[in-house]
Amino acid sequence: VEFARTFYTDTTRSMALAEQAKRVAAEFEFDKDHVQKAVKEFLREMDEGLQKEGTELSQIPTYVTAVPNGTEKGLYMAVDLGGTNFRVCSIQLHGNTTFSLTQSKVAIPRELMVAQTSKELFSFLAKQIENFLKQHHEEHYSSTIKRRETGGQVKEEEIFNLGFTFSFPVQQIGINKGLLMRWTKGFDIADAIGKDVCALLQAEIDELHLPVRVAALVNDTVGTLMARSYTSPGKTGTLLGAIFGTGTNGAYVEKLDKVTKLTQSKDGGIYDKSTGEMIVNTEWGSFDNSLRTLPNTPYDIELDEKSVNPGIQMFEKRVSGMFLGEILRLALVGLLKDPKVPLFRDENSADNDVHSTTQIHQDSPLYKQWGIDTSFLSICAGDTSAGWRMLRQTLDKDYGISAVSAEDAEAVREIAAAVGRRAARLSAVAIAAIVITSGRLDTASSTSGEVSEDDVIDIGVDGSLVEFYPGFEDHVRQALREVEEIGEQGEKRVRIGIAKDGSGVGAALIALVAGSVLEETGQ
Ligand code: BGC
Ligand code: MG
Repeated sequence: VEFARTFYTDTTRSMALAEQAKRVAAEFEFDKDHVQKAVKEFLREMDEGLQKEGTELSQIPTYVTAVPNGTEKGLYMAVDLGGTNFRVCSIQLHGNTTFSLTQSKVAIPRELMVAQTSKELFSFLAKQIENFLKQHHEEHYSSTIKRRETGGQVKEEEIFNLGFTFSFPVQQIGINKGLLMRWTKGFDIADAIGKDVCALLQAEIDELHLPVRVAALVNDTVGTLMARSYTSPGKTGTLLGAIFGTGTNGAYVEKLDKVTKLTQSKDGGIYDKSTGEMIVNTEWGSFDNSLRTLPNTPYDIELDEKSVNPGIQMFEKRVSGMFLGEILRLALVGLLKDPKVPLFRDENSADNDVHSTTQIHQDSPLYKQWGIDTSFLSICAGDTSAGWRMLRQTLDKDYGISAVSAEDAEAVREIAAAVGRRAARLSAVAIAAIVITSGRLDTASSTSGEVSEDDVIDIGVDGSLVEFYPGFEDHVRQALREVEEIGEQGEKRVRIGIAKDGSGVGAALIALVAGSVLEETGQ
């Protein structure tokens, strides 16, 4: 009897479950037509954002007017306040497309992300810079501190120019000046809104008497673009730097005369016009906040309603790592609410010769907001073991769901894959629009089908999703091919390369350029 029970499969149950999984997965479909429509809308919003303020795509001029070519040299510092970690690094640029990097990284304490005052956050950041200098540049640190204590002046050449990578939307008003527009990714510190984040950081640095000048303010996407250009300077230069991580965003090279909200403004600030280009930070996390073309399942709606910033970052909430786990969680909980759905209700979920009933622990993260981490989607997509053993182990170990049957795991897997695929296809919308805008598709030196170096359209990417989600790029490419203006020929020309932790190097590169400008103008 035991034997018979163990290998008994209830076909009605299996079929009902498979059908439900398919139904939910289908809710996440974002087909060719949807992609096309969204690309059109993206192009429209890009244009609008270049002309005026207050648009969905912010299209922020960065004041960075050139990408590096790999010959830049010197020792710089950079800090990176991302969605999850704070990194401090010093970077030696060797001038031959290589660099050496020393870095330290701390997780940002949750309570600082939602602190009462921005001082709490920024003094913590300055403290990390001090620790880093003491640990890695001790001689330099103590000699400048000593001189200052004995009444001397710190010499110009002793001051580190620091690039500040700040991965949130900032209204940039100069290379090292920018006002915080809004927080994203779960940060919420009201008194920082509208403030110059460079000044906030510099004030805390000065309080500790550190020989550091905040020389440049850089979005992480801009840093990624710069880093990619430095390390793999192609003939045409990198077009786009994009992050698919905790959050998502992209910065690209735009023709300066199209950035009319800057060029036609009387107080546009100082920038070098000679290259005829400027890097624009799209802030595409806010693409289509009014949902003209974005998909909107009941799970998307619930996620948004319960977020700290309802109605904004609508694209990001469907694409980036901070949110995908939660979308999946809401979809699964939705299924569990329906008593007719057999998910996790297998009374005979035997694995080999031990049979047992699926149990969900009462404290399972499945029942808590943000309970499912996006890394779980990566595990689902990457599990190729028989009977989805890895997936089931993870459900057991990390989510308190034990004795899951293979067919239940299969159902979870199918839904998770649909959430991930939709995110990648949405990502392709942004990439496609920028590739189309660049005009780089219109020229091709080679007609032979082979992609020549001159025709490569280079894109630098970073972030946990591109790095760890299996098949992310394949899904992106599939969708790119489906875009009429790109097609198979165009897709082949797009080269996507990881610029791992590129924002540090990128910020150093911008600090380099900015540092010399600041010295010249005596700021
Ligand atoms: C922010 C962007 C940032 C992106 C990736 C978004 O939430 O608004 O400024 O580039 O996350 O870190
Ligand atoms: Mg980052």
